[in-house]
Amino acid sequence: MAGGGIGGLATAIALRHAGLDVEVFERSSELSEVGAGLMIWPNGTRSLHSLGVEIHALKVSRILLSTWHGRSILEYPMHTISERYGSDVAFVHRRALHAGLAANFGKEGLHLAAEVSDFEQDETDVRVRLTDGSVVSGDVLVGAEGLRSGVRRRLLGDGDPVYLGSTVWRGIVKSDGLALPAGHGINWFGRGAEFLAFHIPDDQIYWGGVTKEPRGEKPGPGGHKDDLLRRFGAWPQLVRGVIEATDPGAILRNDMYDRPPVKHWSAGRVTLVGDAAHPMTPNQGQGACQALEDAVALGESFKGAAGVAEAFALYERRRVRRANRVVTMSHQATRGVQIENQVLCALRDGFIGLLPQGILLRTLDSTVAA
Ligand SMILES: Cc1cc2nc3c(=O)[nH]c(=O)nc-3n(C[C@H](O)[C@H](O)[C@H](O)COP(=O)(O)OP(=O)(O)OC[C@H]3O[C@@H](n4cnc5c(N)ncnc54)[C@H](O)[C@@H]3O)c2cc1C
Repeated sequence: MAGGGIGGLATAIALRHAGLDVEVFERSSELSEVGAGLMIWPNGTRSLHSLGVEIHALKVSRILLSTWHGRSILEYPMHTISERYGSDVAFVHRRALHAGLAANFGKEGLHLAAEVSDFEQDETDVRVRLTDGSVVSGDVLVGAEGLRSGVRRRLLGDGDPVYLGSTVWRGIVKSDGLALPAGHGINWFGRGAEFLAFHIPDDQIYWGGVTKEPRGEKPGPGGHKDDLLRRFGAWPQLVRGVIEATDPGAILRNDMYDRPPVKHWSAGRVTLVGDAAHPMTPNQGQGACQALEDAVALGESFKGAAGVAEAFALYERRRVRRANRVVTMSHQATRGVQIENQVLCALRDGFIGLLPQGILLRTLDSTVAA
């Protein structure tokens, strides 16, 4: 396994359950995740359950979509979602999810400060080269090194991920004095911009702000906080409140990328999972959920297959179309947020607000249902 992020660790657990001897090579010298939150939809919570991974999570009881002026657009039917998909939607801290996966996998087979630089394969095995010059061989290699996966580059040779023209700032603050009850989330839409705030476990609020920007993630002279207050200063009090309460040094900024979907993630004895296979924009809150689905599907495929080729074919049959659909939906959602024209924004918000519950649920079916 190249990469010990959410996708890599989850896949390592699933492959071990399938009876494989798994080694994880993670570039970082310690296992950790950035300070941010995640929304885990029922497809993600179901996958965690099937992997036997326990995490510290908070059930989501309310998600409201609103205009940047504070006018309600739509409220998700959370109770119906839990019943329909047999599992709750959860807010988690990224670190808690990563720590839950790491605790389940354990230390055996985990190699830190181990960066994969290259691989070669033939009919009998795969030889993986690390940047320290050592070479490890095995039956299969799974590329799980995220958006800029080198395994993907060598396997598919399909170039760099594509910048979509928007950037996302993220942070976490204590919830004290901020008007957002536990388990509640709000997503405000503006002109070419959006902002979300989720009350995650441990009395914390995770927030994210998206705007259209040139690529580069560079802060202005006043730093990220100043940049955010300039862009979101006229938004609702809660938006300004979370930005003002955040330690400027703890604000994260990432440009948003994806890739046009491809039909195959495997060649010979090498395959891909997570963002290495299907990087998507964060708008559907599905990247980690899809990575968890990959893990379970790859494990199940090895349990039911006579060999590597059959296992990878089963894995792709289970996953490629579904994950690609989510990539496309996330891409379209990002384009929707990028609309700047006032009339088109009003039409967009009005359209979302008028969506009958049946259509909303049918859209969720294609990503969240088993
Ligand atoms: C702003 C934002 C919000 C998001 N919100 C959500 C959400 O609410 N819900 C959701 O489901 N998803 C969300 N996502 C998506 C989610 O974060 C990703 O899809 C998920 O982290 C992908 O996991 P991964 O393991 O595939 O990749 P990564 O998390 O990128 O992990 C890759 C790992 O590989 C390691 N690595 C890299 N190169 C090498 C190498 N050469 N050798 C060895 N190791 C290497 C890295 O150090 C890292 O540990 C969000 C993403 C963003 C950016």
